[in-house]
Amino acid sequence: MPIYDYNCKSCGHAFEALVRASNSPACPHCGSADLQKCVSSIAPAGKIEAIRMAHRRVAAAQGHFDHYSPSDKAKLLQGKKNI
Ligand SMILES: [Zn+2]
Repeated sequence: MPIYDYNCKSCGHAFEALVRASNSPACPHCGSADLQKCVSSIAPAGKIEAIRMAHRRVAAAQGHFDHYSPSDKAKLLQGKKNI
């Protein structure tokens, strides 16, 4: 998924956004869509992993791991301790 850096032309706020083709981002600070795209890059693998683990922690907290086998579940919960 492409991740882009934007500068808001209205308030100068700089932010990153994950953007789908059909999706135009807006400034999270002032809501303006008048943005300058600065740098485009692929989201770093470490960042994707961090996002994935964060989602897993949420799922685990909410008991959504029923579709995992007990051994996989143990591995996932082990990964939680390492962070
Ligand atoms: Zn703004």
